[in-house]
Amino acid sequence: MQPLEETTTENEITEVGALKATDRCDVCGAQAYIRVELATGELIFCSHHGNEKRAKLEPIAISWHDESDKLLAR
Ligand SMILES: [Zn+2]
Repeated sequence: MQPLEETTTENEITEVGALKATDRCDVCGAQAYIRVELATGELIFCSHHGNEKRAKLEPIAISWHDESDKLLAR
């Protein structure tokens, strides 16, 4: 194993979790703002259902990607 060399590359912001306008809530079909990564796969929710499922899913989620602030920013 080689030690990691210090890289001089600029921050590469890869928008892995970025949601598109075409992404739809798995529950109601509204525009999705929350993406939840689980060991079993991925779920996307509108802000309403994301908040509703949050208490249940967040403890088991690998990552919780919330873009609902986009809603508020508009
Ligand atoms: Zn929904």
